[in-house]
Amino acid sequence: MVQRKGKRSRGEDTERAGRLRKKAEKVIEELGKLYPNAKLELEYDNAFELLIEAILAAQESDKKVNELRPRLFKKYRGPEDIVKVPLEELEKDISSINFYRRKAKLIKKCCEVLVEEFGGRIPESVEDMVKLPGVGRKTANMVLGGAFGLPAIIVDRHVLRVSQRIGFTDKKDPDKVEEELRRIVPEDKWTKFSFLLLNHGKNICTARDPKCGECPVCGVCDSCKVKL
Ligand code: SF4
Repeated sequence: MVQRKGKRSRGEDTERAGRLRKKAEKVIEELGKLYPNAKLELEYDNAFELLIEAILAAQESDKKVNELRPRLFKKYRGPEDIVKVPLEELEKDISSINFYRRKAKLIKKCCEVLVEEFGGRIPESVEDMVKLPGVGRKTANMVLGGAFGLPAIIVDRHVLRVSQRIGFTDKKDPDKVEEELRRIVPEDKWTKFSFLLLNHGKNICTARDPKCGECPVCGVCDSCKVKL
């Protein structure tokens, strides 16, 4: 059979998948030692809080969202409380956050759908979560993994960058990267793996000037700047 240029054969695909699985194991092992308590930086008590915070955290620091948290969730205990208030009141309550007007609209719509279609409960599947206005796969996975403890590959900008640098993927689209990582990482480690890469991207494998000299996965990373 003639093989198209640029296409990998089935044998090559299997070999590559095996190599990436081993690499993932090593990364989980090494980063697990470096970040034994890896978790999200957002603070939350339940899935409702994490969902609203994830919407607020788009183009905003987690620190700013955490600062607002006590006041916000003292007033809004669940989606019903948000549905009841006028939009202007919600805008005022989140006005310390970037793009608060747009986010207030999204949060309000999201809570309306939660109340009308899900009885006020946060759904426990990506498929249902992404039906909520303002919720994409990243947020859905963040809530599933972070609040419900379900297996979830969370592809935020840190996980995307670190995955590309280490060589898990050459894709740019987060949904495609999620799909690739799902195949490489064992399902029971999806959430842990996401938290580890997220922490690593914030602390060592930073967007500008990654600190490869301090990185425990330099030996398996395709982009390590340090000669071993
Ligand atoms: S070796 Fe460098 S580029 Fe690779 S993961 Fe570590 S810090 Fe990032």
